[in-house]
Amino acid sequence: MTILRIAAPTPLRTLLDYRAPTPETPAIGTRVRVPLGRRSVVGVVMEHAARSDLDPKRLRSIGDVLDETPLLPPDLVALARWAADYYQHPIGEVVAQVLPLRARRDQAASGRRVAAVRLTDTGSAARIADHGRAPARQRALVALANAPGQTLAMTALAARGVSSGVVRSMIDLELVARTSLASGFAPADADVVRTTAPMLTEEQASAAAAIDGGTPGFRAILLDGVTGSGKTEVYFAAMQAALEAGRQVLLLVPEIGLTPQTLNRIRGRFDVPLAVLHSALAEGARMESWRAAAAGHARIVVGTRSAVFAALPEPGLIVVDEEHDESYKQQDGFRYSARDLAVKRASLLGTPVVLGSATPSLASLANARAHRYAHAFLTRRAGKARPPDIGLIDIGRHGDEDGLSPPLIAAMAEHLNRGEQILVFINRRGFAPVLMCRSCAWIADCPRCDARLTVHARPESLRCHHCGYQAPLPSRCPSCGDVEPLPIGVGTQRTEQALAGHFPDVPVIRIDRDTTRSISALDATLAGIQREGAAILVGTQMLAKGHHFPRVTLAAIVGADAGFFSADFRAGERQAQILVQVAGRAGRAERPGRVLIQTRYPDHPLLQTLLNQDYGAWAALALEERHALGLPPFGHLALLRAEAPNASAPLAFLAAAAERFAAVGQAVQVLGPVPALMARRQGRERMQLLLQARERPPLHRLLARVLPEIDALPEARRVRWSLDVDPLDTI
Ligand code: ADP
Ligand code: ZN
Ligand code: ZN
Repeated sequence: MTILRIAAPTPLRTLLDYRAPTPETPAIGTRVRVPLGRRSVVGVVMEHAARSDLDPKRLRSIGDVLDETPLLPPDLVALARWAADYYQHPIGEVVAQVLPLRARRDQAASGRRVAAVRLTDTGSAARIADHGRAPARQRALVALANAPGQTLAMTALAARGVSSGVVRSMIDLELVARTSLASGFAPADADVVRTTAPMLTEEQASAAAAIDGGTPGFRAILLDGVTGSGKTEVYFAAMQAALEAGRQVLLLVPEIGLTPQTLNRIRGRFDVPLAVLHSALAEGARMESWRAAAAGHARIVVGTRSAVFAALPEPGLIVVDEEHDESYKQQDGFRYSARDLAVKRASLLGTPVVLGSATPSLASLANARAHRYAHAFLTRRAGKARPPDIGLIDIGRHGDEDGLSPPLIAAMAEHLNRGEQILVFINRRGFAPVLMCRSCAWIADCPRCDARLTVHARPESLRCHHCGYQAPLPSRCPSCGDVEPLPIGVGTQRTEQALAGHFPDVPVIRIDRDTTRSISALDATLAGIQREGAAILVGTQMLAKGHHFPRVTLAAIVGADAGFFSADFRAGERQAQILVQVAGRAGRAERPGRVLIQTRYPDHPLLQTLLNQDYGAWAALALEERHALGLPPFGHLALLRAEAPNASAPLAFLAAAAERFAAVGQAVQVLGPVPALMARRQGRERMQLLLQARERPPLHRLLARVLPEIDALPEARRVRWSLDVDPLDTI
């Protein structure tokens, strides 16, 4: 008898044994229905075994076999097993995340398809000039000839002013034939401009040669290139080589980086079927993209975090763009790092993996220094762009109004008078971070969180950025009743309003989560900006990430100080990255760029090092500091979090857990339990226990041994708890 060992969606940490049907045993990676308690769930066959430890009477048989051929290829089965072990997360829940959404439930029905037409041989051979009296037909022929697979969705043709009547006439003439496209990889409908590769600079060429995208074999390359140095062209060269070798490419981008602009840049260069995978796609479309990748039809797969689990039958290259970006880490449930899994996956597949950034994470820099990764540098900007001039403005000396100092306003006026654009970075949305009474010092706090309420203008309100709580602005202090409380500090809305006052004739465009809810809205705004004359863009991190603003010549960093005094050991890393990334938005085309940083701490070593040397020099110092303290990437951390409506339950749970850990491990330090920095959030009390180790193996051995005991603690039933291996936030 064959036993199937199945990953099923349960919090259990083990595979579940079932009897295999006869005569045919479903292969590893196949989805099957299995009975689980009184339910029936979708699981995946992970192992075949000759016998089971279960009592034969309790061994149940599987239900339907859902795939004719395994849905998960061997490398994804192996990756899931590795990840379950590394992140100490239940294997069934890991596998459920690896599967595309729809496949988690049942038969993976083929997703929504959209009506499309494909150029026939007659159509391909048709001379455009022969259709001179039918301009819509001409447009359609040109567009189809340039489209991947010479196929376009009807909607894409309509966007080019080709009516359905024109399409019908073309079908009658046998220039095109009806077909359908999976909506997940329907080609972009407009604005795809074909481009050819530029002549690579010497640095770009040697980086591309180091990656050597056409040659199989695992290797990791850290592409460390200053902003505007043309990292994308290096990816493209490596991708071209992989595609020419008949291989597929997986390109991971941060959440905010997957704009239509980005996709069009790829489509403009590569005339191959492309699949897009991200969480905002409709379920059917995502399934179809996944299928397109798994069937080898899509040659390039572009996606955010979860795309690291795309099935690739002919893998050739994995690229992780902006590898330092924190959106690669999943922050709930199965807390994995897609960047780290991308490297693991490349090693399982035997392909190269490229991690690119202007501000590499300290983790990746440490890997490069230890020669686990090759380190390729792009030290100069590509094309005609020069590095920007960076200056500090000491607000302690110059003073400020609404967060803006007179020298900054003067500099802005200069740039605007020349018809140039300005980017103003401020890391806080809303009008002001604090509402305070000047008479009795009352401050507006969130009733559900240990957090202040943010003042918002239009509509005027107080809002909690942690739980969504909202309240009207009080006209009198609720505590003393004497006066109207005043907003203190600066957010994007206040900056926007102040700048509109200083420069009434210049459009001020605010980009933050309140104005720009979707990627397509962001893209439309960005497209508008490319065309405008003098303009001011005010925004949060959203503005800093990877976008190309050719007309921006001045980048102003208004609130740079917040990260200097954080208790989080990663605050400096984030701070340095954001400063360098924002600075990198200035002067990316012909006109020279300038960066002004307003600060109360002009002598702060982080600022001085970035200013007088560069990010690499700062990173070297920061790595020494982390090394001395045994912090990542030199030490290794895991964080056990627990929360409940009152603090006693999480405290009891974590204290019991701490006891278990301490009983087993010596090589691992157990710190806590302590309250989280925001001890109360959404009406729940939060506590945490930090595990810190010099070496990774003892930490993982300890976790593997103790977690099953922790699962079984009676205290565990009274809290919500989670484990975070390699946590980004530790406070
Ligand atoms: P990064 O991603 O490193 O910030 P990009 O890849 O966006 O930089 O490139 C910045 C600009 O330089 C783009 O406009 C790009 O087209 C241009 N560029 C890149 N490489 C070259 C090259 N070899 N020759 C000319 N222009 C280039
Ligand atoms: Zn008061
Ligand atoms: Zn709140």
